[in-house]
Amino acid sequence: MKHIFGPVPSRRLGRSLGIDVIPYKTCSFDCVYCECGATTTKTCEREEFFPLSELLGELDKRLSEIPSKPDVVTLSGAGEPTLYSRMGELITEARRISGLPVAVITNSSLLGRPEVEEELLEADIILPSLDTADGETFQRINRPHPMCSLDSIIDGLERFLKRFEGTVLFEILLLDGMNTDDANLEKLENALSRFRTDRIQINTAVRPGTVPGIAPVTMEKLTRIASRFGPGAEIIAGTRVEAAGREDRAIEDKILSLLKRRPCTANDLSDSLGIPMPETAKVIGRLIESGLIREDLHGQGRFYTSVERE
Ligand code: SF4
Repeated sequence: MKHIFGPVPSRRLGRSLGIDVIPYKTCSFDCVYCECGATTTKTCEREEFFPLSELLGELDKRLSEIPSKPDVVTLSGAGEPTLYSRMGELITEARRISGLPVAVITNSSLLGRPEVEEELLEADIILPSLDTADGETFQRINRPHPMCSLDSIIDGLERFLKRFEGTVLFEILLLDGMNTDDANLEKLENALSRFRTDRIQINTAVRPGTVPGIAPVTMEKLTRIASRFGPGAEIIAGTRVEAAGREDRAIEDKILSLLKRRPCTANDLSDSLGIPMPETAKVIGRLIESGLIREDLHGQGRFYTSVERE
């Protein structure tokens, strides 16, 4: 199964069955904090990267295998899901097949486009993000494709959220010293005052990103900042790590046991073990963080090795 992962426990969504709709690290951004690694294809071009029938066929099969229904089907991936050009049909069909609400995680970059807005209106839950409303900081943190304009993202979010009738879980990721100063937070507050949100979820980088020196924000400071965004704001930093359940650990065990036998790239691991790339990339991040594996650069590739092998 190449495109379906989980169900995985998610504090934001409950038990979530993921559909990976994007080739590994195809994204309109190249965020310095990305847990999935550096963006390899930076693009704003939408495509049917995988046939719609293949994604739906896999979803149907996976649903027939799991004993208890998850809470939600989530369109995500190690990249930007709204780049999938048949997203509207995918949402409608995924809901029909599963009988479950469908959530979409997005970096908001394509929301200025009318066709993306129309398709996203099909979703039941949307998890958009915006880390800053300051142009220079946006370039420094999110490193967007040249066609992404911050003003059109903010205008697009405002327009879309006015029309969208489902649940909006809005994420802001804070990096100490990059988007936590007063001027930045004030601009963000002004932008947020234009959006309809059900919850504002504040996060920070809990794992290594794609550039050295990314600094997480302390819990004390996060609490202070969250209070600026009103009673609908909550801190979600760290909860994803805590939420790693039995299924996540089974993936960790499989990856570790293969890496004890031979060094592999993330693609090798994903292909050999049949684990979709977003899950593979996240588990690799956790294993590096806990010191169980290490990363080496060889030629063009990043190889991972179990430290027990040495
Ligand atoms: S964090 Fe999300 S938006 Fe940023 S580069 Fe990674 S996949 Fe793209």
